[in-house]
Amino acid sequence: MIQFQKNNITVFQSALYMTTSAIIQANETVIMTDPNWLPTEIEEIKGYINKIKGDKQLYIIYTHSDFDHIIGSGAFPEAKVIASKQFADNPNKEESIQKIKQFDQGYYLKRSYAPIYPTVDIVVSEDGYKLELDSLTMTFYQAPGHTNDGLFTVIEPYGLFLSGDYLSDIEFPFIFSSYKDYVNTIHTAENILLNHQITTHIPGHGTTTQNQQEIRKRVDGSKYYLEQLLHDNGELERYLSEEYSFFEGMKSIHNDNKKIAKENL
Ligand SMILES: [Zn+2]
Repeated sequence: MIQFQKNNITVFQSALYMTTSAIIQANETVIMTDPNWLPTEIEEIKGYINKIKGDKQLYIIYTHSDFDHIIGSGAFPEAKVIASKQFADNPNKEESIQKIKQFDQGYYLKRSYAPIYPTVDIVVSEDGYKLELDSLTMTFYQAPGHTNDGLFTVIEPYGLFLSGDYLSDIEFPFIFSSYKDYVNTIHTAENILLNHQITTHIPGHGTTTQNQQEIRKRVDGSKYYLEQLLHDNGELERYLSEEYSFFEGMKSIHNDNKKIAKENL
C-alpha cells in the first residue's frame, strides 16, 4: 500500500480512488491523516502505526468529513484528533456514519471496530492557526468549497502541504459546497506556496510529489478549471478527458459543478 516513503514521511494509498493516508514521524509524535478505506487496508495502516509508535502520541488530522475520509477513525481510539471547527460542529454526523454502514453492507465488509464520527480534541477555528508539537510547527488554513469543513495543513520544517481533497493530480475540483469558497481556497493554496517553503505535496487522492513544477501545475490546473467552468462551451470536457484518466467515472460531477457554479454567481 505504500505510495511514497522518504525519511520520516510515509504515504499509504488505498486501492479505492487513490485515497491517501499520510504518516509523519517525529521524536515524540506520530501524525496521520484520514486513515482509509478497506478493512484490510486499515489493519495494515494500524500495524504500521503500532510498529513505529512506541510511546509516542498519535495525532490524526481529518482533512474533511466525507465518509471515505473518516471511515477508519474507530480503529484509532487512542489518537488525539485535529480538525476544523466546522468538522467538529457538523450537523450531519449521523449521515456520515450511515454512509459508512451502507458502504460496508454493499460490499459485505466486516471491520474489527465500530465506525464512529471522530471527536475533535484540537479544534481549528482560526485561519493560520499554528500548533507547535514536538519539533514541528503545524499551520492550518480553512479550506471550504469541496465541503464546508475542509482543512489545509502545512508541517514545518519538513515543508509538507497536506491538501485533503484539493489539488489532486487525478481529480478535477469536486465542488460540493460552494464555488466561491472553492475559488478562495485555491487562492489560499497559492498563498501557502508563497509563504511557506513547500517541498512535498500530499493530496487526499492521487500522488505525492516533490516536484515544484508539478505542485504549481496542480494549483494552476484547479484555477484553469474553475475559470473555464463559468463559460464552458463544450471545450472543457475534451480537455478533462485528456487530462484525467478516470474522467468517464467522474463526468457527472463535472455536470453538477457547472450547475453549482452558476447558482453561486
Ligand atoms: Zn475524498
